[in-house]
Amino acid sequence: MTMNSKLMVGNWKMNGSLAANASLLSEISSGLRETSCRVAVCVPALYLAQAQNLLAGSLVAWGAQDVSTHESGAYTGEVSANMLRDFAVRYAIVGHSERRQYHGETDDVVATKAQRALAAGITPIVCVGESLAEREAGQTEAVVKRQLAAVIHANGHCISEIVVAYEPVWAIGTGLTASPEQAQSVHAVLRAQLQAATAQADRVSILYGGSMNAANAASLLAQPDVDGGLIGGASLKAPDFLSMLKAASR
Ligand code: PEP
Repeated sequence: MTMNSKLMVGNWKMNGSLAANASLLSEISSGLRETSCRVAVCVPALYLAQAQNLLAGSLVAWGAQDVSTHESGAYTGEVSANMLRDFAVRYAIVGHSERRQYHGETDDVVATKAQRALAAGITPIVCVGESLAEREAGQTEAVVKRQLAAVIHANGHCISEIVVAYEPVWAIGTGLTASPEQAQSVHAVLRAQLQAATAQADRVSILYGGSMNAANAASLLAQPDVDGGLIGGASLKAPDFLSMLKAASR
């Protein structure tokens, strides 16, 4: 368990438009009165300027969905951590399973991305999680520990500044959710790994992600080591997202 309030992060993935974002953000902002958790939205990089304009001074932080492993230079199409900082980005998701799967990101690449974010004063949200085949083969614990170990190894001195998101790959966008007990047992493993790496492991929020929605959020968030959520699909619907923020505010 962390000392912090719960952290709820929307991952918009490759969705949105100027018009749709404006109305989603205004609906979210106007529903925040009944919430006390920490909130952020991770938007496509092109919309960070819009998020900054619309959210400056609000309780909603904004973040990116990825960051380059490189500082600057001949890396066509990439976005650096310093560029993200120019737009006052608080968080950057790194190692999302869609990046690992479709863009070949290895544990080492993810560790370097976390390092770049931290060096720019941005909190990396480090995603770890097993595939269905890995779970069925009894490898869940080994896989998430290997993924987190790479990030700890590269960032040992400031590891208490990261956020971790446990996202079982089989639960992302599938409508299948880890049970609260399944989530808690993996979160406890990750917490113990962080405790072995830093005396300040209690500062690290460990989020659950994978088909979290308005109906299942409360029971997941009630687990002692579930410190919040990383929410894809349900973060695009203001009423659903707001109801999850309320569940995280109890
Ligand atoms: C995600 O993309 O991080 C995610 C958890 O997606 P969804 O909530 O749609 O499963």
